[in-house]
Amino acid sequence: MILGGGFGGLYLARALDALGVTRAAELTLVNRAPAFLFLPLLYELLTDEVADWQIAPSFAELLPDGCRFVHGEVVGGEFHAGQRRAFIRQADGDLVLEADTVVLALGSVSDDFGLPGVKSHARPFRSLADAQALKTAVIDAARRAAAGAGAPREPVSFAVIGAGPSGVELAAVIADRLREEWARAGLPPPPARLHVVDRLPELLPQYGSALRRFARRELARRGVELHLGVGVAGCSAAGVELENGAHIAAETIVWTAGSRPAPVLADFPFVRDRRGRIPVSRTLEVPGFPGVYALGDVAASVAAPATAQVAVRQAAVVAHNIAASLRGERLREYHYEPLGEMMTLGRGTAAANILGVAFDGVAGYLTRRLVYLLAMPEPWHATKVGLSWLGQALEETWQAWSSPSPPARPTE
Ligand SMILES: Cc1cc2nc3c(=O)[nH]c(=O)nc-3n(C[C@H](O)[C@H](O)[C@H](O)COP(=O)(O)OP(=O)(O)OC[C@H]3O[C@@H](n4cnc5c(N)ncnc54)[C@H](O)[C@@H]3O)c2cc1C
Repeated sequence: MILGGGFGGLYLARALDALGVTRAAELTLVNRAPAFLFLPLLYELLTDEVADWQIAPSFAELLPDGCRFVHGEVVGGEFHAGQRRAFIRQADGDLVLEADTVVLALGSVSDDFGLPGVKSHARPFRSLADAQALKTAVIDAARRAAAGAGAPREPVSFAVIGAGPSGVELAAVIADRLREEWARAGLPPPPARLHVVDRLPELLPQYGSALRRFARRELARRGVELHLGVGVAGCSAAGVELENGAHIAAETIVWTAGSRPAPVLADFPFVRDRRGRIPVSRTLEVPGFPGVYALGDVAASVAAPATAQVAVRQAAVVAHNIAASLRGERLREYHYEPLGEMMTLGRGTAAANILGVAFDGVAGYLTRRLVYLLAMPEPWHATKVGLSWLGQALEETWQAWSSPSPPARPTE
């Protein structure tokens, strides 16, 4: 039984099927949404560079025949005296599932650290619904500003809290979407103020200096104002209050500053670390609970960051270990090996650091697209997405050739 169908859970289900485990055992995957979400491409929904169907294919399309899908909310579990049970809430009632082997892959949620006003005034950016709602807010703000063009008015204002990859990527796509809306209305760039705030003195602290430089340059091109080295004290309808007493006026605030493991873990009997994650052994088993594994964002394992890259590689190790225990063979250990990082820096541009080589611009964009296509869970789905991106690129090229004036470039 796999609890959670994200990068850890879904890739695990597919790997178990590939190893033949579904011929020897029943496999069930539980997830609260009916579709998987390819989170690294969520930003591009704001610029319409990707469509919902491309990044959120349904589990019916992705799961192997040998895996049963349960659409429901995991609300707790019982693990004692050889029993492993999960309690599931579904639209039409409750369900109890039992299994010999359970994998916890429930991911994480946004963490506001209990700061005043964040829950009520700042938006998270973690789900398809979050991205769609933010896109609507950006378009509405741009159109309102365009309707009042010529009259004296307050600038459109957005604040993104957190200058990690999520905050940087979001700020770039928000800036591009605002400009594109105005360009479509035949207007010059809107009077917009876009802020990124972080308590750390440098943006992207987890990345190397080249990616930081690329990101700083692209954000500066888009007029993004950085407030680094100052924490957020709280949020209100008027904007963001900083710890140094300053106030940033913002009509829309997006919170990317922290995350914590799925809250339902508190209803399971496992030990958790200071950050709420479940400590696991190198084989990704939960100590003291035979037959229970944890991976991805819920697992506290040897210096591995909370990334999709880590969850997918851990899924391969857990799949091997489940198959090996059924055959009485030796289990494999997970060792963290960073492969590199990539991020969008706005429409048609991205930065990448692959095996120590950093680059950006169109090369970064094409590399990122290709790597993500190859990383998509299902080859047929990836093929459809690839063909649709190709069609979109050809259409844009044709429009650029056939239009009398060059299209507005948001980055210029
Ligand atoms: C906007 C964004 C962009 C990101 N970009 C990148 C990137 O570019 N590169 C990278 O490596 N990482 C990226 N990450 C991080 C990466 O997505 C996570 O580390 C990764 O998804 C973790 O995998 P997981 O399986 O642990 O959790 P998830 O992939 O989040 O999967 C957890 C699943 O469990 C389900 N679930 C949770 N609670 C319950 C419940 N109670 N009942 C039922 N179902 C439940 C969720 O709906 C979800 O489907 C990004 C994260 C975000 C939010």
